[in-house]
Amino acid sequence: MLVLEYKVKGRRQQYQAIDEAIRTTQFIRNKAIRYWIDAPREAKINRIALNNYSTALRKEFKFVEELNSMACQAATERAWSAIDRFYGNCKSKKPGKKGFPRFQKDNRSVEYKTSGWSIHPTKKRVTFTDKKGIGELKLLGKWDIYTYPVKSIKRVRLVGKADGYYCQFAVDIEVKTEQRTGDGELGLDVGLEFFYSDSNGHHEENPRFLKKAEKAIKHAQRQIYKKEKGKNQRRKARQRYARKHLKVNRQRNEHSKRLGRCVCKANALVAYEDLNVRGMVKNHCLAKSINDVGWGLFRHWLEYFAGKFNTTVVAVNPRFTSQKCSDCGAIVKKSLSTRTHKCSCGCDLQRDVNAAINILNRGIARDGQSRSNATGVGTSTLLGATLAEQVLT
Ligand SMILES: [Zn+2]
Repeated sequence: MLVLEYKVKGRRQQYQAIDEAIRTTQFIRNKAIRYWIDAPREAKINRIALNNYSTALRKEFKFVEELNSMACQAATERAWSAIDRFYGNCKSKKPGKKGFPRFQKDNRSVEYKTSGWSIHPTKKRVTFTDKKGIGELKLLGKWDIYTYPVKSIKRVRLVGKADGYYCQFAVDIEVKTEQRTGDGELGLDVGLEFFYSDSNGHHEENPRFLKKAEKAIKHAQRQIYKKEKGKNQRRKARQRYARKHLKVNRQRNEHSKRLGRCVCKANALVAYEDLNVRGMVKNHCLAKSINDVGWGLFRHWLEYFAGKFNTTVVAVNPRFTSQKCSDCGAIVKKSLSTRTHKCSCGCDLQRDVNAAINILNRGIARDGQSRSNATGVGTSTLLGATLAEQVLT
């Protein structure tokens, strides 16, 4: 699945119509969750039952009926994926919270499937044809969506962001694998000092986008409270603040994407620590820096490009990787502030490089096993799946 994103241009009433469609989507999703909660135990609510419920909602509410029927189904499917995830967590006995479906308050997108829209055959324009009145929108972006067969466009999503509205097309085509430029093997160690250190001794600097923008963001935040509540000026100040955050997120994403691509392009095997990022982020003191490092995002792009370049990526258990000597295997105790690894066997390395070599060795050992039952890491579904996630969060 390939996702093409455009910024859209329209008139103010059209933007209001998009907002209205987004609100309707949230309404349907939340109604479906409520329906599932209230249903008697023996009713066994599944995906199909929720789909049928969307039809019932269309009869009951005029504003639901105005939204394209498949878009309504897509909204109940969101509810279903939240329910299904909860069931999955319960079944697999996931430790901690099971993620009971919650009512959504901040939905930002509406999703159409294969009907309710049409694309202009040559110009970059998309028209939404249901009764929400969104109408024809101009697409701003460098892609040529009309060169793809209309049949291959499986989903069309309108998303509201801090700096405007975007239209995403999910196109069902094979993503071509690209030629790799090297067959190296690389271990990556994540830290706070560097973005990562690799087993070849390279340290990738931390960009710290948030820290750099922090002053401007704090300033923008203060401006909000200086303006009177309910006034236009305050709304504008809030938009400026949101745009600053959006910019940091984009910078982070681009940075992770670029690095992930480089690493996968040059290597046949990449091993990294299987850190529970969420668990780590919960540690309040470290949270801001770790979020800023954006390791989760980097990992996402690593896995994505692994599929593209046919690179094997392996997540290994990080236990003792910083304490163990990568040369002789002896445990050399060190505190967080010790920056070098010095072993009695004569091995003398920077601390993170030693860890990265250990991670690589573990990755090579693991890879031998995993290749027998699976070819590399499955990433074909990754993009589609995570996009749905992004929209929800
Ligand atoms: Zn040693």
